[in-house]
Amino acid sequence: MPLARRKDDFMDNKVIYLDNNATTAVAPEVKEAMDPFLCELYGNPSSIHAFGGQVAKYVDIARQQVAELLGCHPTEVLFTSCGTESDNAAIRSALPVNPHLKTIVTTRVEHPAVRNLCHTLERPGPIGFDNRVIELPVDSLGELSLPDIGNALDEDVAVVSIMWANNETGVIFPIENIADMCRDRGILFHTDAVQAVGKIPIDLSNTAIDMLSLSGHKLHAPKGIGALFVRHGCRFQPFVVGGHQERNRRAGTESVPLIVALGKACELARQNLDRENTAVRALRDKLEKALLASCPDAKLNGHPEHRLPNTSNISFEYIEGESILLMMDEYGICASSGSACTTGSLEPSHVLRAMGIPYTAAHGSIRFSLSVYNTEAEIDKVIEVLPPIIQRLREISPFGREQKQAAT
Ligand code: PLP
Repeated sequence: MPLARRKDDFMDNKVIYLDNNATTAVAPEVKEAMDPFLCELYGNPSSIHAFGGQVAKYVDIARQQVAELLGCHPTEVLFTSCGTESDNAAIRSALPVNPHLKTIVTTRVEHPAVRNLCHTLERPGPIGFDNRVIELPVDSLGELSLPDIGNALDEDVAVVSIMWANNETGVIFPIENIADMCRDRGILFHTDAVQAVGKIPIDLSNTAIDMLSLSGHKLHAPKGIGALFVRHGCRFQPFVVGGHQERNRRAGTESVPLIVALGKACELARQNLDRENTAVRALRDKLEKALLASCPDAKLNGHPEHRLPNTSNISFEYIEGESILLMMDEYGICASSGSACTTGSLEPSHVLRAMGIPYTAAHGSIRFSLSVYNTEAEIDKVIEVLPPIIQRLREISPFGREQKQAAT
């Protein structure tokens, strides 16, 4: 299809967007809330004059809205630029609290925001920080073993950082239990909850979590805004150093429009939590059931129940996920594949590899991630369009099922 035509389609919203774990549309209410802070209420919240001061009030309201979604006190929330910054700030702050402790415990399935940071911290000096990193394995359903975690929590552990929900499979970890295990041993616990916030209920007042990261663009706020929860009493060293903003915990003039947007998005997310777990889940289940039934050699990746209600990761064996994506793209259907084209070779995702998914299945994996904006008509369209695409690709695949059977 010619590019110009496709551009029009995007503008007309003819896209079926099932890639909400990558990023989300800004909610109209969020756009409306942030608009006045671009051209009219543009004062600096740190200014002495009333024009700036009135803006500070809205930053406070946004902080309150984030805190209400998380079940924490507003002064425990600091605004950052994204989930990645929140993860960096949390882990880098935890390490010097007890400088003689050198171990970071994490998992093999973290997002690169945590994983690559840990790899950097693990390198020997002077380019690294000489930390020891323990990456806990997951089983074939993407789940962690609590006894494994217990065994890893030795006397050298400075911080444990484990994601609340996995971005690729949606698998939810028992974060409250893990946080309890850490608190019992006096170890700081951070969770990357970028995919969990707004999709499942979270009440930090009832947990032992010390720090939690979230990101605006995963819950219908714009890109470029995140937040970090730091529990009262948890020692915190700023990652971005400079001015006195955010009570000396994150320097830099506050991006008021984005902060207001995140606050509004959190308020909406709180109102929509039930819909995530009923309507969104029902659409996801309908899509998944239909595809697994109509496509031979299709398998679900990740635990069928302990999962985010919006995420379905399915392997269509013996074909390339990227080919599926390209053919779906012709119908305006957006999703993600479990392999990324890096340096010319198609490497299957580290998450699926950690789960022991065979290469032939990992390469053909597609992640569908829905939002409250998806409709039943969109899901019906995907159910109609995708099985013939899979069939066509299987017919031309050099790794076809028949060849595989002949070879074994
Ligand atoms: N952590 C997880 C689990 C994610 O899914 C993502 C983004 O995909 C991030 C962290 C990074 O968030 P951001 O894009 O806001 O830096």
